Amino acid sequence: MSIRNRYLAAIATLILSVMSSAPTAYARDELVIYSARNEQLIKPLFDAYTQATGTEIRFITDKEGPLMQRLKSEGPNSPADLIITVDAGNLWQAAQEDLLKPVQSKVLESNIPPHLRDSGNRWFGLSIRARTVVFNTRKVSAGELSTYEDLADPKWRGRLCLRTSNKVYNQSLVAMMIAELGETRTEQVVKGWVANLATDVFPDDTKMMEAIAAGQCDVGIGNTYYFGRLKEKDASLPIALFWPNQQGSGVHVNISGAGVTRFAKHEQAAIRFLEWLSSAQAQNLFADANLEYPVNPAVKAHPTVEGWGAFKQNLINVSKAGELQVQAVKLMDRVGYK
Ligand code: FE
Repeated sequence: MSIRNRYLAAIATLILSVMSSAPTAYARDELVIYSARNEQLIKPLFDAYTQATGTEIRFITDKEGPLMQRLKSEGPNSPADLIITVDAGNLWQAAQEDLLKPVQSKVLESNIPPHLRDSGNRWFGLSIRARTVVFNTRKVSAGELSTYEDLADPKWRGRLCLRTSNKVYNQSLVAMMIAELGETRTEQVVKGWVANLATDVFPDDTKMMEAIAAGQCDVGIGNTYYFGRLKEKDASLPIALFWPNQQGSGVHVNISGAGVTRFAKHEQAAIRFLEWLSSAQAQNLFADANLEYPVNPAVKAHPTVEGWGAFKQNLINVSKAGELQVQAVKLMDRVGYK
């Protein structure tokens, strides 16, 4: 073969190899995500991933209800590869409705502790949210606090504030208590909480914590990142966090997480993205944006979050929040927790 012909053959081989690899490369480089975590928290991650890998990410954000409804009605035609949402109760629901596909990944199994992911591998926690005790530092000393159960004690009569039981966070909290304490004991506790309420339940954690800071009540239960946001705005607010149940089973934790959809068109790309999200590189990007805790135990939380101190977390699998949700809602209804 002449040099010229050899050159042409080499070019032809190169073109052929590019052409044959093109469809695979294309399939690998695209991802469609439905996210109930808001754009402001999630977009920087998508951008970082695109920059690092070239993977193009298209996404929509909405509340988890409409997103799941959309997945259901789209069925096999859904373009979504991945759904991202908060609260194990929601992820459990998505799995229950067969919207998620089990995936095998050694990376996810090693980066994410077993109690923060589905035992059937259909969803994975990506950040931890702790639902803990918040108190007014002028009216309560940490020494008076001990457990979630203790907040049912008559010594807290007229001093407790709670968010509404309509919020999945509280449904999950009570469901996890049922898993741990049984239904009878949990019902006594929640009944005690209701008897101790200082005022009507609050529509959100922020309003509840503002009421504690204002002295309308002395103590409440909320997610730490709301506390963090309030303190960032006004460091002088007389509120602090307390880690309950440290002699027992630990602080109630929940997750924000994700699962690969049943009809994902880019399943492998979705798994790779999940693996990246659980890695040391991305965990701080994911958790810090909302002052949450990384799920990967090898990664430290944001300095502000670290500043709230270390705590022992409850190790019961968060899927119980889903499994026992209906029971929890009925229980709260029975004791008049609005
Ligand atoms: Fe929240």
